[in-house]
Amino acid sequence: MSSQSPKHIATKLVHAGRRSSEYHGVVNPPVLHASTILFDSLAELEKAGASAPGKVTYGRHGTPTRFLLEEAVAELEGGYGTLCVSSGVSAITNAILAFVKPGDHILITDSTYFPTRNLCNTFLKKFGVETEYYDPAIGGDIAGLIRDNTTLVWCESPGSLTFEMQDIPAIAKAAHARNVKVMLDNTWASPILCRPFELGADVSVQAGTKYIVGHSDVMLGTITTATEEDLLTIKKQVLISGDAVGPDDCYLAQRGLRTLAVRLKQHHESGLKVANWLQARPEVKRVLHPGLPDDPGHAIWKRDFSGACGLFSFVMQPVEKTQLANMVDHMELFGMGFSWGGFESLILPSDPTKIRTATKWDDDGQLVRLHIGLEDPDDLIADLEAGFERLKTA
Ligand SMILES: *Cc1c(COP(=O)(O)O)cnc(C)c1O
Repeated sequence: MSSQSPKHIATKLVHAGRRSSEYHGVVNPPVLHASTILFDSLAELEKAGASAPGKVTYGRHGTPTRFLLEEAVAELEGGYGTLCVSSGVSAITNAILAFVKPGDHILITDSTYFPTRNLCNTFLKKFGVETEYYDPAIGGDIAGLIRDNTTLVWCESPGSLTFEMQDIPAIAKAAHARNVKVMLDNTWASPILCRPFELGADVSVQAGTKYIVGHSDVMLGTITTATEEDLLTIKKQVLISGDAVGPDDCYLAQRGLRTLAVRLKQHHESGLKVANWLQARPEVKRVLHPGLPDDPGHAIWKRDFSGACGLFSFVMQPVEKTQLANMVDHMELFGMGFSWGGFESLILPSDPTKIRTATKWDDDGQLVRLHIGLEDPDDLIADLEAGFERLKTA
């Protein structure tokens, strides 16, 4: 292998973490269910430490089904290693808990996914960790917020619901100058569209639930680190938490992974087509999509990302609740529900005003988040157009 040229990511997606020759030539890794693992001798039993890499010692510590998914994700992210856990929120919780102690101060982007905030505002507060939220557009000025007891900076780019881009290299430079870890929630882009470690992240977290799984039927989280030392730190924390993702879910994630590149190409293309159409509509005040040339995050997106997924928001002109309900209750193709990243399109009215603390979201228009799935975008546009028509009849 070493004599061959480095492979493109679409090629890695097909081949990473399969090891068919070790499993009778079977193309996809086998599903190995286990709680008890039997040892041949007292000597083998005594060697069986939970943290031995790749060792199968107990079901909660993982079987090869999980280890092969971890191997694949680590290779795709370009990190040292990956741990798979049972949800994206578990990945976030374990990554943060691994690096904090009472008395620490942490910096979290104001545009972060709400459950990340919930962890900080409840458990971490009780545990004696102080959270400070910062403007996602802060860039290198994050240096001014770093204190002697700051241990980590949490980034998410683009941000949840409002899609602000962050200057990760500038943030990482300032953080590393003070020995502060940089963690990135890379769910929106996945390693296909954004290379977290090349931008300076120390830890990259993904809700595998979204595009890796890609079919709206599995909960899964991934935590990838740049170094062995950080991987071991997080592994100890995951062991404490007792988190254990099941082999069936890892198998489905492996299957989803193989088509990630082609799916994302279509999500990118269809998402931008719908975003452009929305921009020209009188019902729409603005579209929040970093792939649009007039988006405030466009320059950073162009510099750091190689594409967009199918998730973005738009802000409507102010509407009455009954009008909004009349629009979203009768969509033919867009489903209404949480999560995203599957093959199907979703619509989700949302309100960021009450969530923000470091920045103000004071738009009086209704925010609507869309996930553009793999349907033909012209049919999705027709569905949205009919929805806008229903605003008038409410
Ligand atoms: C959905 C999501 C998560 C959490 O993933 P779950 O698997 O639902 O726990 C984390 N971060 C982002 C950005 C998400 O959109």
